Formats: sequence, structure tokens, C-alpha cells
Amino acid sequence: MGQFDGKTAVVTGGSAGIGLETARRLAAEGAHVFITGRRETELDKAAAEIGNATAVPGDVSVAADVDRLYALVHERGQGLDIVFANAGINAIVPLEELTEEVHDSVFDINVKGTFFTVQKALPLLNDGASVILTGSTAGDGGSAGMSAYGASKAAVRAYARAWSSELGGRGIRVNVVSPGPVDTPFWVTAFGDRAPEMIEGVASGTPAQRPGSPEEVAAVVTFLASSQSSFVYGANLYVDGGLGQI
Ligand code: NAD
Repeated sequence: MGQFDGKTAVVTGGSAGIGLETARRLAAEGAHVFITGRRETELDKAAAEIGNATAVPGDVSVAADVDRLYALVHERGQGLDIVFANAGINAIVPLEELTEEVHDSVFDINVKGTFFTVQKALPLLNDGASVILTGSTAGDGGSAGMSAYGASKAAVRAYARAWSSELGGRGIRVNVVSPGPVDTPFWVTAFGDRAPEMIEGVASGTPAQRPGSPEEVAAVVTFLASSQSSFVYGANLYVDGGLGQI
């Protein structure tokens, strides 16, 4: 018996990194997991690996794609118990070089994508459902080049507070998980060949003195998704090796 037997979950950005690992874990504990992502081949490969999963290609910042995802969840006929709004991108650009296009892409995916993912799930959410948004230590910090990304993650944190107030009456909990440096393809996208050096540089200054793994974030998301966190509402749980805590 798994703790999520009979439950239905959605994980956005489920083809790689933290999303893939979380989808794997929710499915291993009994949930049927719908995963989304923009790259169809990788998504299909991930769904096959996970097993109890449905791949739905799509972009979280495109309303019609999110509608298509939830139409498929609706067809399954069991409502929705867990939403992990995880899809996100970074852009390391100093203010004077930050273009409208880059700023829009960060906000479209990280902020508007999170809004679509949760708002469009509302008709399907079963009472007692758990919604987990993805923040970042960057939402509190002020590293150079991270203004658009940090601002987008601060916005996500603000969503969780208001949505907790709005949805708590239905027993729907909304919380945030905020990773610190976690070893995923995210760093390669941001830094290319310099990714190992960059993540080690950030991680070495933390109490943990190492990068985190996607599994360590998935464990905390699993806790927030489960009834073990039944009195945790509107919280922001840091999985950051202590980066933002000292
Ligand atoms: P990743 O790049 O390894 O994976 C991101 C996933 O999101 C991929 O599956 C990608 O296909 C998907 N994705 C990207 N844009 C999308 C879109 N528009 N629509 C649908 N899917 C999309 O990243 P990760 O490290 O696993 O990051 C996951 C989340 O964690 C992000 O929100 C990120 O901001 C956050 N985060 C990561 C770190 C870290 O160090 N890795 C730290 C703090 C926060």
C-alpha cells in the first residue's frame, strides 16, 4: 500500500530535474501522475520510466496547453489531489542588459504559468488537495543578475499566501518549496560548461557544503503532498542546505 494509492497528481516540468524525481516518487507511492513539459520526446521517455504516468506535452505559459492538460485529467474522472507547479526557468542577466523579451519569458513561465496551473486546476481539485508551488532562495536574495528570476519567485511566494486564504475553506493547502543549489540540468541551461564550477561555488558557502539532489527536494514535496503535513498551510519550506538561513 502506498500513501498516494488512488490519488491523481499533476507535475509541471516533469521531464527533468526536480519535477521528474518528484513525479517518480509520487508514482512509486501509488499516485497516477500527469507530467507536462515542452519537449515531447523527453517527456514520453520520462513517462515510460515513471510507469504510472501520462505525458501531456505543453507550455505552462500557454492557456490552451494547460486547458488541454486538465481536460485529460478530467477525462480520467477521479478529480485531482496533488498539483506540483514546478516548471520554471532562470535568466542570469544584469539590469542594464535585461531585455523586455527575457523579462517576459521569465515572468510568463514562472509567474503566469504558476497562475494558470493552479487556477485552471480549481474545478478538478478534490477537497483536501495539496498544491505545492516552486519558489527559490533567489526569491529572498539579491544576487547580481538575478533580478527577474528573484522577482518571479517572490511573486510565487505571494501567490501561496493569498491562495491559502482563498482555498483553505475547502481544505486545500497551498505551500511553497524553495530549493537552494540543486544539481539538475537547470544549471547547465544557465551556465553551460561552467555549471559544475558555479553550483560548487554557491554550495561550498552553505552549512551543507554541497549541492542538493533532486531526490532531497522530492522528499519535501512528497511530505507537503501528503496528509503528514495536514496542518501546514501557506508555508515556505526551504530545501537549500542552509543557504538562505545563515
Ligand atoms: P530543470 O531545468 O532541470 O527542469 C525544468 C523542467 O521544467 C523541465 O522538465 C522543463 O522541460 C520544464 N519547463 C521549462 N519551461 C517550461 C514551460 N514553459 N512549460 C512546461 N514545462 C517547462 O530545472 P529544475 O532544477 O528541476 O527546476 C525546477 C524548479 O525548481 C524551477 O521552478 C526552478 O526555478 C526551481 N529551482 C531550482 C533550483 C536548482 O538549483 N535546480 C533552485 C531553486 C529553484
